[in-house]
Amino acid sequence: MDDVVIVGGGIIGASTAYFLSNVGRKVIVIERDPSYKKASFPLSLGGFRRQFFQKENIMLGKFAREFLLKLPETLKTEKNPNPTASMVPNGYLLLFGPEHAEEQYRALKNHEACDAGTKNIKGSELSNIFPYVSNEGIETATYTDTKIEGWIDPHLLHNALKNKAIELGAEFTKADVKSLEDIKANIIVSAAGCWTNELLHDIPVFPQKHTVFRVKCPKHIPEMPLTGDLTTGVYWRPEGQEYLAGSPISKWDCDDLEPEWNDFEELVWPGLAKRIPAFEELKLTGGWAGYYDTNKLDNNAIVGKHPAYKNVYLATGFTGRGLMQSPGIGRGLTELITTGSYQTIDLNCFGVERVLNKKERVEPYVL
Ligand SMILES: Cc1cc2nc3c(=O)[nH]c(=O)nc-3n(C[C@H](O)[C@H](O)[C@H](O)COP(=O)(O)OP(=O)(O)OC[C@H]3O[C@@H](n4cnc5c(N)ncnc54)[C@H](O)[C@@H]3O)c2cc1C
Repeated sequence: MDDVVIVGGGIIGASTAYFLSNVGRKVIVIERDPSYKKASFPLSLGGFRRQFFQKENIMLGKFAREFLLKLPETLKTEKNPNPTASMVPNGYLLLFGPEHAEEQYRALKNHEACDAGTKNIKGSELSNIFPYVSNEGIETATYTDTKIEGWIDPHLLHNALKNKAIELGAEFTKADVKSLEDIKANIIVSAAGCWTNELLHDIPVFPQKHTVFRVKCPKHIPEMPLTGDLTTGVYWRPEGQEYLAGSPISKWDCDDLEPEWNDFEELVWPGLAKRIPAFEELKLTGGWAGYYDTNKLDNNAIVGKHPAYKNVYLATGFTGRGLMQSPGIGRGLTELITTGSYQTIDLNCFGVERVLNKKERVEPYVL
């Protein structure tokens, strides 16, 4: 009988393996594709933010930054004494039209209650702070400029978590788990990302294809934050000398990860040029697509013990925020497994029962 078996060695599996190993548990991580070709985390944009509606998501975003700042010390190993996640703390800027403003004003009360450190301005004030952004149709905008949000390199975070977990005694092994019943362990953690429903048929998490484009623009604005325009759904950020920009639409039931190239001309470029006039002059240089681990019920995480099993825990359904939530989820699951309850951030609102009883708890900020 093994102690803890984690199914899925992606970012949630690696983080959970690290936190559990760090308190002395013997962990085996089973991953079917150690190249992680189709896994969500390497295909993500790497963003971490605390600008959410729900307090728990805000708190998880705050912990991500705290964890990333301490990463060089916490995750150093004998083989890699200087780990980094290549943090770019340019902040986030979220832009809301009149149709989303009221909801955002309510979200700001939660930001304040959680001491999120966000700033809010009227659309008319936007150009004083972000002179390269057009405020046409923008009612209100929220941003951070104190290095508390930004993006990282997802591979580097994964590597650092995995290597540290291994140094602490975790084992990563290659296999395709067909059924959780085949695993003999005291504790099983399902961290199978967008494929969770293959193992747990009552969990409504499915792969949803999202496309990201890489573009070059003669005008480079390196200080630009990760910007989400809620009036079009287009989001973007600098990437070296170029920019990455996400399509506002997504697709279900796609076996292939071919980018939806038509989205660029039809939606993404017009959305970019409308908001950043310098983006009129763009050149498409590449792109990719990846699967969001989408919770079809309410776009929110599902975390905790599965009530139908004696020993099965799961963490999934992050719907585009699993990378930034991975430190908080790994820590939270470890608390739950080792003490029976959450000790730091109370994650009970993400419990499995909510989903089985179809009680929606919608997080409106999906980018
Ligand atoms: C285009 C895009 C942009 C994104 N941007 C962001 C962002 O800016 N910030 C953010 O926080 N998040 C972002 N995300 C979301 C983020 O990538 C995911 O939420 C996160 O990776 C989920 O982590 P995971 O470990 O659950 O899943 P994954 O990273 O997909 O890992 C799951 C692993 O489980 C393995 N597995 C599955 N089933 C089995 C099985 N039966 N047996 C063995 N192994 C199995 C898979 O092979 C996979 O390696 C983005 C995603 C995409 C696609």
